[in-house]
Amino acid sequence: MKNLKLVKLEESGKRTEIKVGNSVIGKDFVVIAGPCSVESEEQTMKTAEAVKKAHGNMIRGGAFKPRTSPYDFQGLGLKGLKILEKAKLKTGLPVVTEVIDPRDVSWVCEYADILQIGARNMQNFSLLKEVGKSNKPILLKRGMHSTFRELLSCAEYILAEGNPNVILCERGIRTFETYTRNTLDLSIIPAMKEMTHLPIMVDPSHGTGKLSLIESMSLAAVAAGADGILIEVHINPAEAKSDADQQLTPSQFSHLMEKVLKLKKFMDTEIGPSIIGGRH
Ligand code: PEP
Ligand code: MN
Repeated sequence: MKNLKLVKLEESGKRTEIKVGNSVIGKDFVVIAGPCSVESEEQTMKTAEAVKKAHGNMIRGGAFKPRTSPYDFQGLGLKGLKILEKAKLKTGLPVVTEVIDPRDVSWVCEYADILQIGARNMQNFSLLKEVGKSNKPILLKRGMHSTFRELLSCAEYILAEGNPNVILCERGIRTFETYTRNTLDLSIIPAMKEMTHLPIMVDPSHGTGKLSLIESMSLAAVAAGADGILIEVHINPAEAKSDADQQLTPSQFSHLMEKVLKLKKFMDTEIGPSIIGGRH
């Protein structure tokens, strides 16, 4: 754990808890859900209302999209953030949204309750330093080519700048497997629990890229001891401007939520922490 002095779990076992809205990340199981991209007011409002109705805890949606092709939809920018602001006002749910440029951090903070650093920017060190100076919690997604240690090292950058509120997020890594969009590395959850006091969430949407696999991987994330999940939901997935293959309909999301909450309760009441290690 050399050079990971701020993120490492101390002997006291004290863990970071981050209060956002009505949830405490690191204590409560938190579900962040919403569209991949903010596309329109109607699409975002309807999705946000569905997330709320299904007992999701926070809404997500990208106003700045880091896309593989420059010709793909890049997000609505400020207009998208204003739509998210309305969705928050309507539902009371906090907003999680991505920032991709250090120059945007200070003003995106006015709209975001949690700033997301996407997988492609995990090692964008100037962006990490900038969000480290902000007063918003940071959802730091694992780079698709990055190791456990590299993810922790990037979190260390943020803590070293003075921001203690970092949430790690496993979202799948690239392996030789191509059937799934990424390979979801669920073993990183109990591994992180042994090494760091920071909460860790799982994103089964990007982690699999396949609609039919998301429910199973969400339940597996709960069983592995994740602090929450990130799920892409869209009122009309077929028409989505990004990640159309992995977005759940509101009704699919509501079914997933029922099972996730049931399993979480069962894990807490019947299974309990591991005496060998990992899950706490
Ligand atoms: C997203 O959350 O929509 C996203 C772009 O995710 P990732 O950075 O994990 O690819
Ligand atoms: Mn997406």
